[in-house]
Amino acid sequence: MKLLEDRIKEDGIVLDCEVLKVDRFLTHQIDAHLMHEIGQTFAQSFADLGITKVVTIEASGIAPALYAAEVLGVPMVFARKTKSLTMNEELLTSEVYSFTKQVTSTISISKRFLNHTDKVLIIDDFLANGQAAKGLVELCQQAGSDVVGIGIVIEKSFQTGRALLEAAGIPIKSLARIKGFVDGQVEFLSADA
Ligand code: 5GP
Repeated sequence: MKLLEDRIKEDGIVLDCEVLKVDRFLTHQIDAHLMHEIGQTFAQSFADLGITKVVTIEASGIAPALYAAEVLGVPMVFARKTKSLTMNEELLTSEVYSFTKQVTSTISISKRFLNHTDKVLIIDDFLANGQAAKGLVELCQQAGSDVVGIGIVIEKSFQTGRALLEAAGIPIKSLARIKGFVDGQVEFLSADA
C-alpha cells in the first residue's frame, strides 16, 4: 500500500534492535485518514468471506481493526493484555510473548463475544515472530470460531511470523512488507512478493 509505505519512509524511525517506531501515525498518535484507508483496504481484501467479527489485541491493533470492522459492518473485539476487575465472566485465554516488551502475558477475551458461528478476521499493527497473531488464533479456536484471514499493517518479513501463520493455513494480507533495515532506512518487498 503506497500511502502506508510513503508514511513509513517519512515518519518511521528505525531503532537499533530491528524495531520500527511508528508512533507518529500508528502506535501512539494515530492518523485517522490513514487508518480509514487501511480499514478500506483490509475490508476489500477479505470481502465475500462472510466475516462476522474483527479481532485484534490492545492497544495498537485497535485503530486499524476498528476501521476495517466499520467497512465490513461487523463488531470489533480486542483481546486484553491485563485482566480488568469488570471482567468477571468466563474468559478465553492464551499466553503471548511480546517481541517489543520481552515479557509473556496472558491475553483474554470474554467468551460472550466469540462463538462457533463466528468467521473471524484477525488484524494487528505489526507481524514480527507471529506470537501475538498466534495467541489470537488460539483464542478464536477455543471459542470454536473459524479464522478466515489475518490482516497485518506492517510485516517485518525478515522475522519468522509469516512462516508460522502460513503453516497454520491462514491467508495473510500485509499492507507493507519490510525486507530489512539498511543504514537506518527501511527496505520494502514488492507488494506481491
Ligand atoms: P510478534 O508477536 O509477531 O512477534 O510481534 C507483534 C507484536 O509486537 C505487535 O502486536 C506489536 O505490538 C509488537 N511489535 C513487533 N515488532 C514491532 C516493531 O518493529 N515496532 C513496533 N512498534 N511494534 C512491534
